[in-house]
Amino acid sequence: MRDLNDYDVVIIGGGPIGCITGEHIKNGKVLIVEEHQSIGVPLQCAGLISKNGVKELGNPKGAVNKVRGAYIYSKNSMAKIGNEEIRAYVFERKVMDKDIAIRASKKCDFLLKAYGEIEKDKDGYKVKITHLGKNIVLKPKVIVGADGSKSITGKKLDLVNNKNREILSSCQFEMVNVEVDDDFVYVFLDRRYSERFFTWIIPMGKDRVRVGLIDKGNCYNKLMKFITEHEIAKEILRNATITEFSTGSLPIGYLDRAFKDNVLLVGDAACNVKPLSGGGLYFGAIGGKIAGEVISKYLNGEVDSLTLYDKKWKDAFGSEIKSGLRVRKFLLKLGEDTLDELIGKLARSDLIDYINKHGDMDRQASLAIKVLKSLNIGLGFRILRDLL
Ligand SMILES: Cc1cc2nc3c(=O)[nH]c(=O)nc-3n(C[C@H](O)[C@H](O)[C@H](O)COP(=O)(O)OP(=O)(O)OC[C@H]3O[C@@H](n4cnc5c(N)ncnc54)[C@H](O)[C@@H]3O)c2cc1C
Repeated sequence: MRDLNDYDVVIIGGGPIGCITGEHIKNGKVLIVEEHQSIGVPLQCAGLISKNGVKELGNPKGAVNKVRGAYIYSKNSMAKIGNEEIRAYVFERKVMDKDIAIRASKKCDFLLKAYGEIEKDKDGYKVKITHLGKNIVLKPKVIVGADGSKSITGKKLDLVNNKNREILSSCQFEMVNVEVDDDFVYVFLDRRYSERFFTWIIPMGKDRVRVGLIDKGNCYNKLMKFITEHEIAKEILRNATITEFSTGSLPIGYLDRAFKDNVLLVGDAACNVKPLSGGGLYFGAIGGKIAGEVISKYLNGEVDSLTLYDKKWKDAFGSEIKSGLRVRKFLLKLGEDTLDELIGKLARSDLIDYINKHGDMDRQASLAIKVLKSLNIGLGFRILRDLL
């Protein structure tokens, strides 16, 4: 490892998107600082990634199952989406994150058990690193905030706040000895368990599942209630044992700017998350590569290239996040009966064939708008117009 003062770029956070950003910085010396002692832990993910998402992530190791679609349940209805085509993979995130970090290590150095925080003085932004009781201050040319959902970097830059993004909490169990259809994920849009998001059962193959829930709070108790009370969950999990327990947080929102001075935000820190499913790896990987590209150009002497970062990520997926936020706002207004009506009508309509043919789990918002408009569920004109 070189002298710490030699680094051109410091990336705060060694998650998958920090590592992908580092991997795509073609020139310059890059240091990734990670507060934990190992890459990939603790787990904060259901590990479901679309085929395109896997490609964007560089085909990492760690896939444990393939899925062809989803059973979508509301309180009293169910729609099955999917056919013979493989649509997504379920990943062991610890294996995946480590593999991506190993790829990044060809270009970047890592400092583990190192907490990074930006500080500003008259010369601009610096990174203060606390490592094994020592404080080290570095002044690289570029700093990347890849510090996840609760990004301190974003808050310190004043780019992230409670108005432009909402933080949801999660609780998830890995359970074994289950009886489940390994080819389909189970999604429960059921307000009895999650008022502001949803509950899931994701098959990992070989009698293993992830059972989890995202909501505003109290997620452990809500998940236990789901496991012990919900008719489908009770059946699938009747002989199951919990082998892993994880909690986490998810940012849902849209940042007008993810760049200031010489600091860029990527991944969850930049809210690069699908508002309808909570998936952050697909947009995160695309955004991380864009960050890598503008930083490479900057280090090559193209001094304006960092300022193009916001335009480039917005062109790539900004409108999809914005539409997703609109659909989410709309769905949150629906009562339980309307949700039931919606899922029931969907199950009986030929829209299922349309979704199976044209559905793209990475561009859910555009599809959701089309589906909602086509299902005549007695929504007022004004509500539909708001969705446009
Ligand atoms: C319950 C749950 C389920 C999910 N399921 C899916 C899914 O199925 N599919 C999908 O695509 N996405 C899913 N997501 C979202 C996905 O996990 C994230 O979008 C993804 O991990 C973002 O990667 P990241 O590198 O930006 O952030 P993270 O993976 O959070 O990595 C950030 C890293 O920064 C480190 N760090 C933070 N602060 C500091 C600091 N100050 N100094 C040093 N290091 C620091 C952390 O330790 C961490 O290693 C889920 C999220 C949750 C909460």
